[in-house]
Amino acid sequence: MLKKWLKLVGVKRKNNMSMNIIVAWPPNIKEIKKVFDLTGMNPIFAFGDVIFNPGGREIDEPLAFHETTHSIQQENYGSVGSWWERYLVDKDFRLEQEIPAYRNQYARYCELVKDRNRRIKYLYSLAYNMASPMYGRMVDFNSALKIIRNGN
Ligand SMILES: [Zn+2]
Repeated sequence: MLKKWLKLVGVKRKNNMSMNIIVAWPPNIKEIKKVFDLTGMNPIFAFGDVIFNPGGREIDEPLAFHETTHSIQQENYGSVGSWWERYLVDKDFRLEQEIPAYRNQYARYCELVKDRNRRIKYLYSLAYNMASPMYGRMVDFNSALKIIRNGN
């Protein structure tokens, strides 16, 4: 599964991927909150090889794929901190990073769920998230739909 997924992401990681999940806020939460309004959200954050999950929400496999994509991006960027700094200020970079994350999330869901109606419902929920104000409206809903569906 890991091999297949790495192929999907189109990036290479030296070591086998394993993410730790911690019920806590990430170390840069102060900076994140300056940019993102997290009111009413139950967000999780990839920071290096850790998924910070302050709300203790359930993280299913497709969502883990999303966050692990960011972890690999951060590793390839050279520094987790620098990746986050750019992610927070550069909307185009943010979109560029979210596209493979959402695609991987949806692709994994489609591997697990064959029902067409459930897939469409999931696709719409992902597009809704991607177009949400939390990301600073980096993309509109219809574009998000097209972007995520690409290749499926
Ligand atoms: Zn993301």
